Amino acid sequence: MSIRIGRLLGVPLILHYTLILGVLLITWTLTVGYLPSEYPGLASATYWLIGAIAAIVLFTSVLIHELAHSYIAKKSGLPVRRIVLFIFGGVSEIEEEPKEANLEFKMALAGPLTSFGIALVLWLFQYGALALRASVVIVAPLEYGAYINVLLGGFNLVPAFPLDGGRILRAGIWRWKKDLIKATRIATRVGVVFAYLMIFGGFMFLIGGVFISGLWFILIGWFLKNGAESSYRQTIISEALTGVSIREIMTRDVHTVDADTSVKDVVETHFTQYKHGGFPVEKDSRLLGLVTLEDIRKIPREKWQETKVGDVMTPCEKLKCASPDELAVDALMKMSKQEIGRLPVQEDGKLVGIVTRGDILHTIRVRTELKG
Ligand SMILES: [Zn+2]
Repeated sequence: MSIRIGRLLGVPLILHYTLILGVLLITWTLTVGYLPSEYPGLASATYWLIGAIAAIVLFTSVLIHELAHSYIAKKSGLPVRRIVLFIFGGVSEIEEEPKEANLEFKMALAGPLTSFGIALVLWLFQYGALALRASVVIVAPLEYGAYINVLLGGFNLVPAFPLDGGRILRAGIWRWKKDLIKATRIATRVGVVFAYLMIFGGFMFLIGGVFISGLWFILIGWFLKNGAESSYRQTIISEALTGVSIREIMTRDVHTVDADTSVKDVVETHFTQYKHGGFPVEKDSRLLGLVTLEDIRKIPREKWQETKVGDVMTPCEKLKCASPDELAVDALMKMSKQEIGRLPVQEDGKLVGIVTRGDILHTIRVRTELKG
């Protein structure tokens, strides 16, 4: 549930539907709390207007912060899949881990520095607006924007992975110990502890009757905890698969099926016989497609005899294939994106093997366990 609204610096920008809720919540909290106490005596409609402008300033600032991360990533050759804005802020989805600590450090630091830069610019504008006796509708969002960007930069510098500060911490340990996994483990632990502290703080707020801040703390803490854990898993996976190509882990002697075989025969001779969820379909030793349990489930049982495998399979055009020289980590990404369990491996148009999610997970397990 999200919409893509175009590209910035060549990176697709996605607005998640919870962003609307975020803008409304911020507008509302500012209108009923912060603004009346900072600027007393204004009309209620004015508070709402300022609140809405300030909320937009906040999320625009978050976007510029993310663009700074993405800019450094792209400039250094790391592909950025997209930037997502949602209720808790923004995420730059960078598809690869940085190859060295210095790059991670630069990439992480770019965000908070940008936020501090925005704060300075907004503060200067506010100063100018005050000197020109501009309306409070202009001055107040500028002041709030400057203040919130300092908070944003500061919060992100907390050394709790996957916050920017946590990435800076990880880069430091990584450089010092020359071990990305160890660095990630330590930074993740700090991140998880910080996340639990935030959740705990949130409950304290709730008990103290401060509901909105309490809920924010709990939700952001929970979000950070999940982020820390999944970033850790991702690092382990890409580290374990460094340099592993499909050729090394694919299954070579593949049980193939002839396209003219009936579905009934395939079920009896292949699916019940071998414990695979899918088989490549060939005709005159040319790969035509892949037939999986899902494909067969779509055909009613009484039609199994008369239906040929060639008619129910997923044809090659729709099929994702791998090449033997492709990296295992890329194949794994392909499978998770497409939500499929196996990829036929093709070389010069010929089927040379098959690689499954299970093969790759097995490799990860072996390589992480043997590494100790
Ligand atoms: Zn950041």
